Amino acid sequence: MKIFVDKIPEGGLELSEKIEPGSLLLEDQTVISFLNPIDVKADVTKTSGEIFVDISVESPVEYTCVKCLSRFDGIFRKKFNVIREVKPAEVVELDDEIRQEIILDYPMKVICKPDCKGLCPNCGQNLNAGECECGK
Ligand SMILES: [Zn+2]
Ligand SMILES: [Zn+2]
Repeated sequence: MKIFVDKIPEGGLELSEKIEPGSLLLEDQTVISFLNPIDVKADVTKTSGEIFVDISVESPVEYTCVKCLSRFDGIFRKKFNVIREVKPAEVVELDDEIRQEIILDYPMKVICKPDCKGLCPNCGQNLNAGECECGK
């Protein structure tokens, strides 16, 4: 997301953009996968020498359960602010900040349901689908 400082009017500016997860290097992670363009909205205001950007990010994602490795859908949402010192005609690129803020909010562990039984360590069967033959 680029912000042209000299195009920000007195009353501020609202920007909205869809960013490809690939361009933020976010497409496939261990616990969370971004499969669709990420919705990024920004409220930009300018004071002398600084811009203040109120950003909200939203995207459908797929999580991978750490216990049974099944995938399930979710929504990733985050709001954050960026304050930057700027020169009058500067073009500010915010993709790096957006990427870092998203990564900061990655869940460490996701489970598909509180009582997920996980995989059998022996045969790898998903125990949510039923008991395996190993224990017998
Ligand atoms: Zn699970
Ligand atoms: Zn087993």
